[in-house]
Amino acid sequence: MGSTIVMFIFPKRFVFMCVQRPHSSLRSEDLPWEEIRSVGRQVSDENWISSFKLLRNLQNDTTRRLRYNGDMRISDTKMYERFVAGDPEWNGKFFTGVLTTGIYCLPSCKARKPKRENVRFFPTCEAARSAGLRACKKCHPDDFARGADPLLETIEALVAEVRSHPASFKDARAIVHRSGFGVTRAFELFRQHFHTTPADLLLRARIEATKRQLLSSEAPLTTIAYDAGFESHSTFHENFRRFTGLTPAAFRTLDGATSFTIALPENYPLAYLRRAFSRDIHSVTERLVGNTYTAAVQLPGCRLVLYSAT
Ligand SMILES: [Zn+2]
Repeated sequence: MGSTIVMFIFPKRFVFMCVQRPHSSLRSEDLPWEEIRSVGRQVSDENWISSFKLLRNLQNDTTRRLRYNGDMRISDTKMYERFVAGDPEWNGKFFTGVLTTGIYCLPSCKARKPKRENVRFFPTCEAARSAGLRACKKCHPDDFARGADPLLETIEALVAEVRSHPASFKDARAIVHRSGFGVTRAFELFRQHFHTTPADLLLRARIEATKRQLLSSEAPLTTIAYDAGFESHSTFHENFRRFTGLTPAAFRTLDGATSFTIALPENYPLAYLRRAFSRDIHSVTERLVGNTYTAAVQLPGCRLVLYSAT
């Protein structure tokens, strides 16, 4: 759905409002200009922000009312015609209920179109539900009405599954396959919503799973590696070290440990770190002497002094 920016112009003041509606459905003659002007007269430098909110609320009301009035203006014949045409431009302007199936749909629904005499029209999902109808499982009218993004929800559900059961995905290809999208589209969605690739997300999920197991079980490292989906102990070891700076065995001893050593990655910007650590020479909670950094930190449930020699 496209969005339209509506710009209201008052003396010496521009007010912009975003309206999430299709371009074609927004007509200036539909806007209640008298009401907008009367609000506009209240706009002054002092209460500009609150006036803006007032205007925005008015706009929201207007959008809702327009939609509803729209139903009243559109004839049943016209709505039925748009419904049969499966025109997505009319989604949200009305909902169709089918008496024979007890289901309500968006005008664009791809399900088989019923006979005219079995169709009723509703301004909202609530109205359709209160008439005893159920939401269609094909076109998801409720998702549309609450502005949900079913595509994002699909990807989120898939990512949650990868994170909780990484071993059930052999590789990135298996994730793409499960997503139901093509390779390009799947990669695009992962990049867009999770800023990563399916392969990277899977690897991180495997590492996280092994971390949980290492701290909560006595299982041998090899078992933990295989349970998380790593194909070999060496791949597990190498990636674990790369991500955490610790060997799996060292990570396991963290619980209750009083000290630990992290291997920094190659070319780690130590000089930068040193500068950052010593930027406040009067700090009472941290200090850098030579290569030893000391800080007093508070963690949930305890206070401690942290030493770090680099
Ligand atoms: Zn439907």
